[in-house]
Parts: sequence; C-alpha cells; structure tokens
Amino acid sequence: METPGMSQQSNSPARVTLPTTEKALMAASATAALSLPPLPYADNALEPVISARTLSFHHGKHHRTYVENTNKLIAGTELADLPLDQIVTATAGKAERANIFNNAAQAWNHSFYWRCLKSKGGGEPPTALKQKMEEAFGSVDACKNELANNAIAQFGSGWAWLVLEGSKLKVVKTANADTPLTHGLKPLLTIDVWEHAYYLDYQNKRVDHVHAVIDKLMNWEFAAENLARFAANGL
Ligand code: MN
Repeated sequence: METPGMSQQSNSPARVTLPTTEKALMAASATAALSLPPLPYADNALEPVISARTLSFHHGKHHRTYVENTNKLIAGTELADLPLDQIVTATAGKAERANIFNNAAQAWNHSFYWRCLKSKGGGEPPTALKQKMEEAFGSVDACKNELANNAIAQFGSGWAWLVLEGSKLKVVKTANADTPLTHGLKPLLTIDVWEHAYYLDYQNKRVDHVHAVIDKLMNWEFAAENLARFAANGL
C-alpha cells in the first residue's frame, strides 16, 4: 500500500539517469512498443470513492492488458511505430482490424481517464470551462447532470464524455472501446462505466458510483487544460 500523498511519479522510469548507450537502446525499443503510463497518483488517492483495490486491478490488470495486447497485435505491422492515437484512428471502423482497435482505443481511453480524476476533485470548474458549460447547457449543474445521465444510460460497457464539437461543448456516450477521437470530436473529460471501474466497490450501483465520481473526483482543471489546448489550435 502506498503512503497517502506519496506520488508514484517520483518512481517514474523517465527520471532514472541512464548511460548514453542504454538511453539510446531504450529510445529505440520505445518506438516499437507502447508502455503502460503510471497512474498520476497513488493507488489509494481516490479513496473512499474508488478503492486502492479497484485502482490496482483497473490500472495494473485491465489497462496493462490493453497495452500488452496492442503491442502483440501491432508487432511487425505498419502500425508498430505509430503513436497510440494514430493506431486508434488508423484501425477505426475496419472490421479486420477490430481487435487492434478495441485494445488500442481502450489503452488510449484509460490513459486519458486517469487524468480526469483527482483526490478532492469535483466542485466548480475553472472560469473558461464554466462559461462554455453555461453557453451549451445553461448551467454547470445542467452540464454535470447531462454527463451523469449519459454515464448511467450507457447500456453495457462504455464511456461518457464531455467533448468539443466544433467550438461547442457536448456530452456523448460511447460503447465498449469506442472513443470520440474517431468521430471528429475533441475529448475534454471522460468517465469509465465498464463494470470493472466500479464493481468491487459499488457492485451493481452504477448510479451511486457516477454521482460520487462527478461530485468528488472530477478533475475539471484537466478538462479546462484540454479546452485551452484545443482553443489555442483554433476551434
Ligand atoms: Mn476501464
């Protein structure tokens, strides 16, 4: 168990100083294999809403498996050297590539999802995001309700998303591994509603999980950073 408040980033391999030749070898192999990004917080940082046990399975088993499967499936193909988002867009909608798409999109979705959560999250979004929410939904609460309703309404496994469609905020839901990246939408925030995201802590009570995540863990600052990044590139 991690010490509360201790950041896993301090153990990140990226901070290890290596001899030059070893660095070069790692860089060469890095282009051939995707890696599992570390969680941006300790396993227990999201308790009591999401337990350390759920996070360790969700990140250490589910997310890891998507990354490892993607690596196996792209090895030796023209996809092998592409960044993950390009593997996702290159395989979307292609029946013969469905297995690669499912694993790659799940790898991308999860890397994004971890950053959408934080300890002591929720509350009021930063001003620029708040104004966009009011423009599109009438109020911050109406936007949060739309996000909750989509997360709850997704039948079976999937995701609820706050996205930009053009310059306007919108809430959408996607099934299984599907991701806004392949629909011309720019993702700002997501909630994972696969059962593996909540079943150990909430069993079948997805509604309770979704409300707790929105009220206590949402990293609106991350969504606002995404909004600013897209705005800087021109909406
Ligand atoms: Mn998941």
